[in-house]
Amino acid sequence: MSISADAVRRSHEGRTNQARNARRLRGTAVASRVVLIVGGGIAGAAAGIALARAGIESMVCEASTAPRDDEGAFFNLAPNGIAVLRALDIEFVLDGIGFQNDRLVFHNERGRVLAETAVGGVTVMRGALSRRLRQVAQQRGVRFVFGRALETVRQHGEMVAHFADGTSVAASAVLGADGTHSRTRASLLPDAPRATYTGILNLGGVVQTDLAPTGRAMHMVFGRRAFFGYAVRPSGETY
Ligand SMILES: Cc1cc2nc3c(=O)[nH]c(=O)nc-3n(C[C@H](O)[C@H](O)[C@H](O)COP(=O)(O)OP(=O)(O)OC[C@H]3O[C@@H](n4cnc5c(N)ncnc54)[C@H](O)[C@@H]3O)c2cc1C
Repeated sequence: MSISADAVRRSHEGRTNQARNARRLRGTAVASRVVLIVGGGIAGAAAGIALARAGIESMVCEASTAPRDDEGAFFNLAPNGIAVLRALDIEFVLDGIGFQNDRLVFHNERGRVLAETAVGGVTVMRGALSRRLRQVAQQRGVRFVFGRALETVRQHGEMVAHFADGTSVAASAVLGADGTHSRTRASLLPDAPRATYTGILNLGGVVQTDLAPTGRAMHMVFGRRAFFGYAVRPSGETY
């Protein structure tokens, strides 16, 4: 068997690269075979649960120093979102934290009904869903580390994520779940289009009113320059 000079050179280069990478990674938490998920919001926790289901170990690095389960308001989890929970066998995370809407009713600015669809969903406080998903992920072995804001991801043989606090994590794959202005995407795909402000402001909240309950419908009222969605619970809690 003969070994070509080219193969010897490639082997030498491989060893040199390994040594260089080892030097670079000194002080790096190496979690090879582990998938690193950047961002511990709803997508991050759900991704961890999906990976655990497939027998893949993962760790979540989240920029905020603690869970932000009391921030934000509510959203309507549409049928496709509920289908994801069902596919992961975790629809139970919605138990007791949301209410079902069976239909959406669209109005114009004078209150005239424009359309009605049978497509509903579950209205849920964003923080409550985020907390539940994180708890299930943690029960299934997904590790959450807070206060780790990703700066860059580089490939040194393995994927290596570098964080603002000076730490690094090596992983077999990096999954970006760090939201609209994803640093993961910007780092790995610098030429990808950036999210830009469209001029729409979205505000939401939950208040107590004496308005008539809206049953299992979510109402959407379209004005000329704004749009307003609401649902009134039998208790008067108004979303
Ligand atoms: C605190 C908060 C409150 C929200 N409230 C509402 C609401 O009331 N109604 C609504 O409709 N939507 C709300 N959203 C948005 C909604 O959660 C998301 O649009 C949707 O659920 C998609 O979730 P996501 O996990 O992809 O993104 P996000 O929910 O945006 O989560 C991204 C996560 O990544 C983290 N992150 C960002 N950059 C980095 C980085 N460089 N390194 C590490 N981690 C990073 C963020 O801190 C965040 O926890 C809120 C989001 C947040 C973060």
